[in-house]
Amino acid sequence: MTKFLCTAKVVGQYMLNATTKQIDLIVPEIARTAVPGQFVNVQVSRHTAPLLRRPLGVAAVNREDGTISLMYRILGEATRILADACSGDTLSVVGPLGHGFDLTAKKPLLIGGGLGLAPLYYLAAALAKQKPAVLMGGRIADDLFWQDIYQDYCPEQYLTTDDGSLGTQGTVMALLPELLTKGYDCAYVCGPVPMMKAVAAACAAAKVPCQVSLERYMACGLGACLSCSCGGVGKRLKVCTDGPVFWAQEVAEW
Ligand SMILES: Cc1cc2nc3c(=O)[nH]c(=O)nc-3n(C[C@H](O)[C@H](O)[C@H](O)COP(=O)(O)OP(=O)(O)OC[C@H]3O[C@@H](n4cnc5c(N)ncnc54)[C@H](O)[C@@H]3O)c2cc1C
Repeated sequence: MTKFLCTAKVVGQYMLNATTKQIDLIVPEIARTAVPGQFVNVQVSRHTAPLLRRPLGVAAVNREDGTISLMYRILGEATRILADACSGDTLSVVGPLGHGFDLTAKKPLLIGGGLGLAPLYYLAAALAKQKPAVLMGGRIADDLFWQDIYQDYCPEQYLTTDDGSLGTQGTVMALLPELLTKGYDCAYVCGPVPMMKAVAAACAAAKVPCQVSLERYMACGLGACLSCSCGGVGKRLKVCTDGPVFWAQEVAEW
């Protein structure tokens, strides 16, 4: 698929919770072609540091306006710089990158932990007609600010928090085995590796097909540098171009 090197104009940026922001960019080439599960590689500064672009999942697309939205946690150098971008600023963005989700599920279950719920949001929009259910896991109630964001596409929501401050106490695994008996025909998963690994094992046991979106430190995002490679079944996988979305049974090294 064609990838574009674009100058994206910032048209809005706001806080979603204490540590998470949404940034909206006008970038028509990418808005026209990005599919759920793909990501963009963003250069946050024109200076030499940080040198590497940062990968961020496409969280929403408005094809008519030519905009995409990224939702990101402010973590380190690059995301702190990105958080200061104002309307009218421009950023260099490469995308859409990677291989997205298979969208053929008739009764989808989305399972997200933390910022894994960002790329799943575009998936929820694409699957809206199938009325996807979403299982969200967070450490504390504030991590589940996603409830309101998802409401239009996924009114059926299941919530867990580590401390029990919202929803069921525990990880998503506290609710998943029961949910997997309800006839979902595909699980779509994005979140911390231990969560994805546990979800994939539960889905395999319940014979529910499962797609996972992996996150690996990556440099080029184009399949050239191999910094994001991981072990697949019978071959090495490049997360940036073979993924980031894989069928769970393709992944051998999490
Ligand atoms: C395909 C993909 C999609 C992603 N989508 C999102 C998203 O939608 N929202 C979101 O908040 N985060 C997302 N991430 C993670 C995001 O790229 C990192 O949080 C970000 O790069 C942190 O950069 P930093 O300079 O602020 O922090 P740093 O201090 O540089 O790093 C903080 C942590 O982020 C990770 N990281 C840093 N650089 C990279 C990199 N180039 N590739 C992968 N991980 C890195 C490292 O594990 C590091 O421990 C995604 C990562 C990948 C690979």
